[in-house]
Amino acid sequence: MARRFGPEESRGLAGGSLVSAESLRYQKMADNLCAQGKPNEAAPFMLKAMEDKNNVDIFVTFAFVQQNYRKALEVLEDGKLIGESSLESKYGPDAFKDGGPLVGQFNEVMDTRPYMRLLQAMVRVAVECKNHRKAADTIIEMFRLNPMDPMQQHKWLPTLLCRIKRYPDTLYFCQVFLDIFVSRLSLSQLPPGGGTQFLPPRRELYTPQEQEKMASYESTISYGAALAAFRLSGDCEESRMYLRAAVKANPTVMLKILRRSERPRTLNASARSYNSPEDAHDYLWLSQDLWLEEDVWNWVHANSDAQQAVRKDCSRPRCRRGEHSPGEFKQCGGCHTILYCSPQCQKDDWKRHKPDCVFEQEAKAIRRAISKGQPIPASGSIPVFAADFSEEGVRGYDPAPIKMTPEQEREEAERRRKRKEKKKQMNKKKEERKKAKKREEKQKIEAARNDGSDLEDIQEQIADTSLE
Ligand SMILES: [Zn+2]
Ligand SMILES: [Zn+2]
Repeated sequence: MARRFGPEESRGLAGGSLVSAESLRYQKMADNLCAQGKPNEAAPFMLKAMEDKNNVDIFVTFAFVQQNYRKALEVLEDGKLIGESSLESKYGPDAFKDGGPLVGQFNEVMDTRPYMRLLQAMVRVAVECKNHRKAADTIIEMFRLNPMDPMQQHKWLPTLLCRIKRYPDTLYFCQVFLDIFVSRLSLSQLPPGGGTQFLPPRRELYTPQEQEKMASYESTISYGAALAAFRLSGDCEESRMYLRAAVKANPTVMLKILRRSERPRTLNASARSYNSPEDAHDYLWLSQDLWLEEDVWNWVHANSDAQQAVRKDCSRPRCRRGEHSPGEFKQCGGCHTILYCSPQCQKDDWKRHKPDCVFEQEAKAIRRAISKGQPIPASGSIPVFAADFSEEGVRGYDPAPIKMTPEQEREEAERRRKRKEKKKQMNKKKEERKKAKKREEKQKIEAARNDGSDLEDIQEQIADTSLE
C-alpha cells in the first residue's frame, strides 16, 4: 500500500487528517509487526487502532491477516461502512452523492484516500474469492468516485466484465480508452463514470492510421476488446483488429497463451515499464484461463498476426535465424530483453550487446528503487531527475504536522538506529562478497596464464552472462 510514501506520510497524515495520532501510532506498530511476519502479535494493535472510528486503512491491514479471503472480504465490508460514515461526518450527507462535494475528486482529496485504498483491496480480495461481479461493481463505483481512475483499475475491469459475460460493456469501456488514445475523444469529453456508464459499443473498424497507433497502446485494453469482440462476433475483421493491436503491444501475453504456460500464481510486485513482461504477468494472473478456453485458443492459434508477433529472430545481427516455434530461443539472462538461438551466438554478440545490457539492468534497478521508495542506486551512469508534483494534486489536508510525544520520539530514534545498524552490516557483507569474487577472478586468470589459453577469452567468459 502506497500510504507509506508521499505527502500523507511526510506530513504525518497517513490515513487523511481525520485519524487520531494515537490510532496511527497503533497502526504503525501493527504494520511493523506484520512486516516482520508476526500477524498474531500485530492483531491487538490493530484492534486498538480500530477504536478510532475514522481509521479506514487499518481495516485493509486487518483484512490481509485473516485466515481466508472470505473473512477478509467481511472485514473490508466493515471498513467500507466505517469509511462512509467517517467521510459523511466531515463532508456532510452528500459526500457520496453525485454532485456532492467529493464525488469526482476521490483520492485527490486527502481524506478520501484511505477509502479508495479500501475499495482497491476489496477488488483484489473479491477476485481471490472468485466473486467477479463484486470486483467489477467495486471498480465501477471507484470510477464513479473518480472517473480519472487514479488507482489504475482499468487494467482489471475488461477481464472482470468478460468473466461475468458483459461483452458489450467490455467493448464499450475499452473503446472509450482507445478513442482517447487515438485522439477521437479528448479527455474533456470523457463520458460519465470514465466509460463505466455503459452504452452500446460501436461495431465498425478504426481507420488504418488509428489501428497503427493502437498497436502501441496499453495491451490490457486491446486484449480485453479482442476477447469481447470475439465473444460477440467470433473470428471477424473486428476481433482480428483488436487482437492485432494487442499482440503488437505486448507479445509476451500471447506467447504464454500460445504455449499454454501455467497461470502465474501470484501478482508481480516488481517495478515495470509500459507493456512489459511484468504487465503481461499480472494480466495473465487475472485473465489467462479465459484465453485458454478451447474456442478462444483455437482462434488465436490460427491467427497469423498472433503467430508472427511471438516468433522471434536471433538477436545477433549476422545470424538473425528465426524460431520454428514460439518460445524456442532463450533470453539473455542479464537484461531479459533479447534472444539468441544458441549460447554460441550470445557469446559472439556479447561485445556488441554489453552496453545495452548494462543500461537495461541499471534502468531496471532505478525503476525498482523508485517504486519501493528507496534511494536511487548511485553507481549508475543514467542521469535521474526527481520531481514531486504531489502537493499540486492533493487538497484538503491539514498542514499542521502531528506532534510526537517524547516517548514516540524515543521509539522513532531507536527504530532509526536499528535501521542504520542493519544497513551497516549489510554493506559489510556485500563488501566481503565483492572481495571474494575478485579473488576468484584473479585465480581464474592465473590458472589460464599457466595453461596457456587466451587471456582475453577467459575475461570475456567472466563478463558474460548466462542464457536463461
Ligand atoms: Zn543466432
Ligand atoms: Zn542482455
